Amino acid sequence: MKHTTCPNCFSNKVEDFYTIKNAPVHSLVTVQSYEEAMSVEKKDIALAFCDNCGFIFNSSFDTSIDYYTKGYEDQQGFSPTFVKFLTGISQKFIDRYDLYNKDIIEIGCGKGDFISLISELGNNNGIGIDPAWVPGRTKQSEKVRFIKEFYSKKHGDLKADCICCRHTLEHIHDTGNFLKTIRDSVQGNNNVIVFMEIPSIVRILKIQAFWDIFYEHSTYLSPGSLARLFRQNKFEVLDMYIEYDDQYLFIEAKPVDKISEKIHPLEESVDELKELTKVFTKKITHQLGDWRDKLIQYKSEKKKVVIWGGGSKSVGFLTNFNDIGVIEHVVDINPHMTGNYIPGIGIQYKSPEFLADYKPDVVIIMNGVYKNEIGKMIHDMGVDPELLCL
Ligand SMILES: [Zn+2]
Repeated sequence: MKHTTCPNCFSNKVEDFYTIKNAPVHSLVTVQSYEEAMSVEKKDIALAFCDNCGFIFNSSFDTSIDYYTKGYEDQQGFSPTFVKFLTGISQKFIDRYDLYNKDIIEIGCGKGDFISLISELGNNNGIGIDPAWVPGRTKQSEKVRFIKEFYSKKHGDLKADCICCRHTLEHIHDTGNFLKTIRDSVQGNNNVIVFMEIPSIVRILKIQAFWDIFYEHSTYLSPGSLARLFRQNKFEVLDMYIEYDDQYLFIEAKPVDKISEKIHPLEESVDELKELTKVFTKKITHQLGDWRDKLIQYKSEKKKVVIWGGGSKSVGFLTNFNDIGVIEHVVDINPHMTGNYIPGIGIQYKSPEFLADYKPDVVIIMNGVYKNEIGKMIHDMGVDPELLCL
């Protein structure tokens, strides 16, 4: 189905600017055989730009697919680098808004890492809502409970001093109505703090990070388009910032009675963002061409090339290059992924220890933030491959 109106602002001034053919519709669904992996449906991604609000979204996104209830493996808490990052931003956020002994809801809590952490750090009562939550993946606590459901209007009665939503908005097609549901749930309580974290499309466009475009993400926001979405739904932007090697965009906001006119310094205009989409479409062909040449070269030299970092980025990367057949293995630190197969790609996930025997010539790291951590693990195994970062 083609979406011809903007899900953020409902304008019809939307136009496609970039297409990826045959992307697997799942990245993180749990798949336990090669056949099952290869039977995952593939569809085109058509990135569209809204001239009215600057929203970028997959205008071909299929909203009828069940993405999250058939096993979904997204836990990042196995990396010390990530845990340090998450603890740091959580503590800063708690202190800034005095979130001690409060009620906190997390929409799209995944396995529960963040809601457990923020509840523990601030002695808060936490509720995590997510259809893909599974018991036993975080330390049990009397302060935290989970609701294994999609967030909806019916959760509006849950008491909250703070509503968090990390890496969830980008999976939601119907962003305008999603924000409205949250706003309705806090009607009459302008002291609620809303905290969201999403990937920033600005970095994706600037460095042509094609591996960060995959089917499960229907929504791609920038500081400007995110702030406009919040303002339109009667939230005032308290702060925005970008962290994690420019990859993650954070927003802190509170409800207000009328549309706020406060503009954050980080916001870009619709025209500025549109200009970035033009730069992206001009440069992406070279970027993809350079990677293709490099991988073909490795293949001709019979080099053993592996990817480190499973999940969406590896799906986004391999969607473009799996046909070359040079990458035979993908490793990931999450033990729940080991032995599973990559949806639509068919490569089996290995645990990092696999590399000690395999002795790769080249390791392509899907997220440069982990370069030191991964480099050390590889070195400790007595292996010395060339390390490349996306
Ligand atoms: Zn729009």
